[in-house]
Amino acid sequence: MNAPASTRDATGTTATDGIATMPGGEVAVSLERVTKRFGSVLAVDDVDLDVREGEFLTMLGPSGSGKTTMLRMIAGFELPTAGRILLHGQNVTAWAPFDRDVNTVFQDYALFPHMTVAKNIEYGLRVKKVGRAERKQRVDEALDVVRLGGFEERKPSQLSGGQRQRVALARALVNRPRVLLLDEPLAALDRKLREEMQVELKHIQERVGITFVLVTHDQGEALTMSDRIAVFSAGRVEQVATPAEIYENPATPFVADFVGTSNLISGAPATALLGDPAPVTIRPEKIRLGDAGETPGDGEIAATGTIRDVLYLGSDTRYHVTVDAGAELIVDRQNLTVTSSDALTARGRPVVLIFRREHARPVTMSAPPPSEPGTTSSATTNPTEEDPDRGVTQ
Ligand code: ATP
Repeated sequence: MNAPASTRDATGTTATDGIATMPGGEVAVSLERVTKRFGSVLAVDDVDLDVREGEFLTMLGPSGSGKTTMLRMIAGFELPTAGRILLHGQNVTAWAPFDRDVNTVFQDYALFPHMTVAKNIEYGLRVKKVGRAERKQRVDEALDVVRLGGFEERKPSQLSGGQRQRVALARALVNRPRVLLLDEPLAALDRKLREEMQVELKHIQERVGITFVLVTHDQGEALTMSDRIAVFSAGRVEQVATPAEIYENPATPFVADFVGTSNLISGAPATALLGDPAPVTIRPEKIRLGDAGETPGDGEIAATGTIRDVLYLGSDTRYHVTVDAGAELIVDRQNLTVTSSDALTARGRPVVLIFRREHARPVTMSAPPPSEPGTTSSATTNPTEEDPDRGVTQ
């Protein structure tokens, strides 16, 4: 089901997602240079993106990055200012929502409180005048998929948050849409339940085999469930790739920082450590904290510095290290033998940071978005443009 989509990322280059093309994989949703303005606000800025049939694609980004607007345009609740939206090859840009072969699961579930679970789920089928016997069969099937058999006669108020979420999902699935759009469907759940539902949702998608397009600002959710992730920033797609590719090989500093934590090094510190001022990112867990005097092995880079701050996180400890080359780096270390008191006494200690050269990943600085009054602003800046010597941020 995974296949690469062509997409122009925020830097204007074509991003490849590093996964094999599936022969004959049909494109379910095609976004062609889609732009949406609300007055002076540029909510979605020239987005190109293909979603393959049967794929689980997540649109991930911070609040205000345009992902919900994009989803609403696919659903037909908003009209693009420019560009085209195709569903299975058909231009549906100006079609009404009910004419599109898509269904949306909303964040608040939007269940009818006075109706039973079964009545909620069959509502769309009644509107379409589907016969009683077929309605019953399809409702039973949908309940089975979301594992809610036996809950038919309950009202939404008699269900837990996770069960309500599954009813909302069943209500969408019962219509057998070719594309299911999900707008932050797990946002109302507590952390534990959300994690359970992430696994559940992924299993349901695999079982029904339909295309899922999900919107979230939760990077953990995106990494867990998706075949591919499209990372949004300021209305643009910064990168589209598999979760592993996004995490291991972020295309821009914004992606590196938004998905997990990352150290960005450029300018003079990058020259001192790596012999090149070009920007790179290094994940905190890829850096080893060595004692002063430790020497690097083959293919390793060493950076001397001092521990400035320590954060005890339970399973890990996070060290903020001021590196002599002029950088401030974050290092994560699993607490295999270290206790909280050990960790906290590390402040002020001289250390050597060691990492493999290949873990310093080159990134492309995004072009800043056009500055207009009220326009969403990019979280990505280019430190080398502002000050070539001020090279490191997290
Ligand atoms: P969130 O996660 O907070 O929902 P988002 O990434 O989904 O954020 P959007 O809701 O798509 O972002 O909003 C993108 C931008 O468009 C924001 O600046 C928002 O204020 C603006 N916007 C969205 N809908 C409208 C509207 N109907 N009228 C005016 N501006 C809007």
